[in-house]
Amino acid sequence: MDLGIKGKRALVCASSKGLGRGCAEALAAAGVDLVLNARGAEALEATAEAIRAAHGVKVTTVAADITDAAARAKVLEAAGEVDILVTNAGGPPPGLWSDWNRDDFIKALDGNMLTPIALMQAMLPGMIARKWGRVVNITSGSVKAPIPQLGLSNSARAGLTGFVAGTARQVAEHGVTINNLLPGIHDTDRAASLDTGVAKAQGIDMEAARKQRFATIPARRYGTSAEFGAACAFLCSQHAGFIVAQNILLDGGAVNATL
Ligand code: NAP
Repeated sequence: MDLGIKGKRALVCASSKGLGRGCAEALAAAGVDLVLNARGAEALEATAEAIRAAHGVKVTTVAADITDAAARAKVLEAAGEVDILVTNAGGPPPGLWSDWNRDDFIKALDGNMLTPIALMQAMLPGMIARKWGRVVNITSGSVKAPIPQLGLSNSARAGLTGFVAGTARQVAEHGVTINNLLPGIHDTDRAASLDTGVAKAQGIDMEAARKQRFATIPARRYGTSAEFGAACAFLCSQHAGFIVAQNILLDGGAVNATL
């Protein structure tokens, strides 16, 4: 399917690896020029080079912590005017509800709620003026079904979800859509690090930890970054202009709910 976005320009945050990279690759495959961001310059450059070689699109890189206001300003300056914004950042660490203090919550809110909100506040005015824009926020399946050990993530992402629910309906009349993609378990470094924690805690090997988690997913496997990226690219396409303020689960059926 022609997504109809060839020649558009996208900022994809936290995109040297994992789900962010999947989104960047799928947009590049649709002919979108990219501004990519991650903290580590080496992996970022390698990803940018691989995408240029595979898809022939322009790729600009900014090595910066997207959750830091000064660093984010550099990313926004390099990005300039974009048609598509994909917000993403690393997730907060796991723990117990009783572990976290005010600083832990502020850090999680900064990373997974206030950072995507700041990015939207920076980019939406231009999209509205140009009468076209697409925003996709990478959140988490934990928005629909809380993951007890990820209480910081559950909290911060719920706040972002509330902001999007109202804001998306205020900007839709200008041809700008905002939607959230909610990953279940995907085969990325983040999943590997959570599996390592489970393996250690239970005294089992990684393969056993993975099999244990496969059993909780009706699809009996983890999702891939490529599948996730394809869903993101569709939401950013010309065909998705009537999809507004949705929270779309990509989880192999793991959340057991009718709606
Ligand atoms: P990942 O494989 O660990 O990749 C994270 C990417 O983001 C890397 O490119 C990393 O590069 C970059 N990054 C991390 N923190 C950053 C920051 N502060 N500023 C700029 N770049 C940053 O993670 P993932 O699995 O793709 O997860 C992406 C998001 O989805 C996370 O918020 C995660 O919690 C959420 N999620 C993932 C899953 C899953 O199963 N994978 C499930 C639910 C939710 P650098 O380290 O070099 O910065």
